[in-house]
Amino acid sequence: MSVLVINKLMFDGSEQSFYSFKIEISCPFCGKEIIFLADDMFPMKEMNLKSFPKDFAKQLNLRRRANGKIFKNSHGLQAYAIECQCWDCEASFIVVAGIGEIQPSRFNVFLEGVVK
Ligand SMILES: [Zn+2]
Repeated sequence: MSVLVINKLMFDGSEQSFYSFKIEISCPFCGKEIIFLADDMFPMKEMNLKSFPKDFAKQLNLRRRANGKIFKNSHGLQAYAIECQCWDCEASFIVVAGIGEIQPSRFNVFLEGVVK
């Protein structure tokens, strides 16, 4: 697997609007649009990281915290991930984003990259 670094602020808004915010990305294999709810992503610690490239965290500029299972992005937001499958080319890949509250009731979503 390889890492595609994106590092882009996708969302900056209220907690209420965060829950309906959809991340739109292009399939890294065929370019087809993929859409999913940011709120459906899982903390990185719940992902099976064995299949990830060993240096994925370094490439995505994520730092390990606590017991080494929690990852945070360069803004101190916790990293989340979701496995996507493209409806068109059927390729699977993992999208990684830093998500969190930066001020009371103000949320940010940074699209960090794709592991493909
Ligand atoms: Zn595709």
